[in-house]
Amino acid sequence: MFSEHLKIDQHIKKRLYIGLLGLSLTTLLFILFLAWWIVSRQGLLLNKVILTVVVAVIICFFLVLGLGLVALVWSIWHAKTIPSLENVMYTATNVLFPFALQFGKWLGVDEDKIKNSYIQVSNQLVKTTVKSQPKKRILILAPHCLQWVECPHKITIDVNNCRECGKCPVESLLKIARQYQVNLVVATGGTFARKFIKEYRPEAVVAIACERDLTSGLQDTVGLPVMGVVNQRPEGPCCNTLVDLGKVEEAIKFFQEGG
Ligand code: SF4
Repeated sequence: MFSEHLKIDQHIKKRLYIGLLGLSLTTLLFILFLAWWIVSRQGLLLNKVILTVVVAVIICFFLVLGLGLVALVWSIWHAKTIPSLENVMYTATNVLFPFALQFGKWLGVDEDKIKNSYIQVSNQLVKTTVKSQPKKRILILAPHCLQWVECPHKITIDVNNCRECGKCPVESLLKIARQYQVNLVVATGGTFARKFIKEYRPEAVVAIACERDLTSGLQDTVGLPVMGVVNQRPEGPCCNTLVDLGKVEEAIKFFQEGG
């Protein structure tokens, strides 16, 4: 009975995705056909109007991205924000990020290096754009891989289950959380990180993770000030990772002092 349900469920899941693929392909073909028809029949007044509007929209889009990029460079250079252009800066950064990543890969630049650079730019943007009121509800979001692999305590359920034995950085993070009176949670992945953000509703987040998780997390939390701290991986990915505690404290102080 259970296996039958599972089969039906899997069948529906596959059907949904394949259906969406078909729909996407049909839509793309329709757009291509429409574009061809408009371009090949430029004599028609309606087509001239549509072509002009489409070109104008594309030009505006690129102008906005260009403006965002210029504002971003200016903002980082002068360590100041231009309040009216903050949204444009964030849009340019996030829209162009996948392209920058792909170009970087084609040019042979290490993916982690590009993502690390994106995190630094994002942190700088937070530093220049965050409002001047001190933040009270701060959440430190730490990854599970910081915990010593042989530790038997379930700190992902409640970080206070940590016995503070000193074998991994969780002990120091707990001390920092107590000292600055902020919340600390340990998440096993993006889904739990999002769940914690919903639950704690922080005004600002100090997120510790690898480059891959931080970049996707930063793009998921647009609008919430997040300072990213990349973890260190002396034993390889996802195993007994470390974190620069000075950077964590620096980020908390930045938010508590109001930027
Ligand atoms: S510090 Fe806490 S989490 Fe780390 S190994 Fe010790 S008890 Fe486990």
